[in-house]
Amino acid sequence: MTGSDQGRGKPAATARGGCACGAVRIEMTSPATWAWHDHGRATQRAHGAQAGVFVGSWKKRVRVLDEEGLLTRWSEPDTGAVRGFCGRCGTPLLYERPRSPHFVNIPRAVFETGVGREPRYHLNIEAAPAWAYRGEPLGPLKGFPGVLRERPGRRKPVGLSDLF
Ligand SMILES: [Zn+2]
Repeated sequence: MTGSDQGRGKPAATARGGCACGAVRIEMTSPATWAWHDHGRATQRAHGAQAGVFVGSWKKRVRVLDEEGLLTRWSEPDTGAVRGFCGRCGTPLLYERPRSPHFVNIPRAVFETGVGREPRYHLNIEAAPAWAYRGEPLGPLKGFPGVLRERPGRRKPVGLSDLF
């Protein structure tokens, strides 16, 4: 293969992942169409986290393997968006939005493999909580190996003008 053969015409890879208990598996043809951070309140709650990081793909490029029928869906009353999660372990697995009926978003963290795309976009950044970690400098916590601590007084509120 010469240098010019790399990239184009490369056979599609399959990204693989699944939920924490392993009952629901996901396969996605790589690369993902997009990848993004969602700082919105609905995703914070659904993931129990400061934000969700998703990769999006055409639905036809995604396969859900769910032999036990555990994938459970919940529709957000306000938006009609549908959240899919494992009914046994609770891992968020799918996020489908009504305005994009042919696409599905999958939490980046459930993939064990690469997905062919880096998450470089941020949605709903204005909803990011004040307590979110934003890369502040960390130092070791004396007496607690493996625990890092932010330096006191370093944290300040972050506005949109600080981010762009
Ligand atoms: Zn599970």
